[in-house]
Amino acid sequence: MVHFVGAGPGAPDLITLRGAELLRRADCIIYAGSLVNPALLALAKDGCTIYNSAEMTLEQVLDVIRSQEKQGRETVRLHTGDASIYGAIREQMDELDHLGIAYDDTPGVSSFCGAAAALNAEYTLPGISQTVIITRMAGRTPVPEREALADLAQHGASMVIFLSAGMVPAVQAALLQGAYTENTPAALVYKATWPEEKVVCCTVGTLAQCGVEHNITKTALILVGDFLNTTSYERSKLYDPGFTTEFRKGSQQ
Ligand code: SAH
Repeated sequence: MVHFVGAGPGAPDLITLRGAELLRRADCIIYAGSLVNPALLALAKDGCTIYNSAEMTLEQVLDVIRSQEKQGRETVRLHTGDASIYGAIREQMDELDHLGIAYDDTPGVSSFCGAAAALNAEYTLPGISQTVIITRMAGRTPVPEREALADLAQHGASMVIFLSAGMVPAVQAALLQGAYTENTPAALVYKATWPEEKVVCCTVGTLAQCGVEHNITKTALILVGDFLNTTSYERSKLYDPGFTTEFRKGSQQ
């Protein structure tokens, strides 16, 4: 059995209880060493074999899993944040299907949630935006043409841009081709929830300059939208005294 586990964004106490228990029980842990906090490996039991997948190919990861399975040992495949976001889990799962090896997936706290928490921010403010666009700039991995950042930016929705901290000037230019202006609030969040976390609040117009000034070139998210730094949102209906819900009768109808 293989357990895919989301490690959370960095702080070791942000893994789920289920994820932590699976790590404690694991006979083998293959962790994404580029971003997973190695402090989580302290949960491993004596005799647990540990591999850093940052130094391995997909084939090597699968070889380790196969050999552990043969010995009747359980493997935890530990991914950063939540494995459903840029986690490259599908290709592993498809190969496990071919090999007839069972697996399951334990979610984690994605870094886009960690970054919002660092800013005490809510992406979905009524009257501002009810949509979060999670995307990236094309790098060595291409992005489908219809998802070009400048096109997604037409919506003016709350946006989180992964894997693009090394291309902030291009991000800024693409955002300005859309509905955002020079004054639209933006933030760079480096290593959200790690001790070395850095939060830089800026605007779309100053994004590239702030990236340079704070020397942020990797392991960061770019957050964009009026959800940052606004007081002009509408109150929620859910907690409005006049609003009746399944659980609470409103004062007026
Ligand atoms: N599955 C992960 C994302 C993996 S892709 C998740 O759910 O968060 C790797 C990219 O995620 C990095 O280049 C960076 O853009 C972002 N990232 C991961 N951890 C981060 C953190 N703690 N703070 C800011 N960005 C982070």
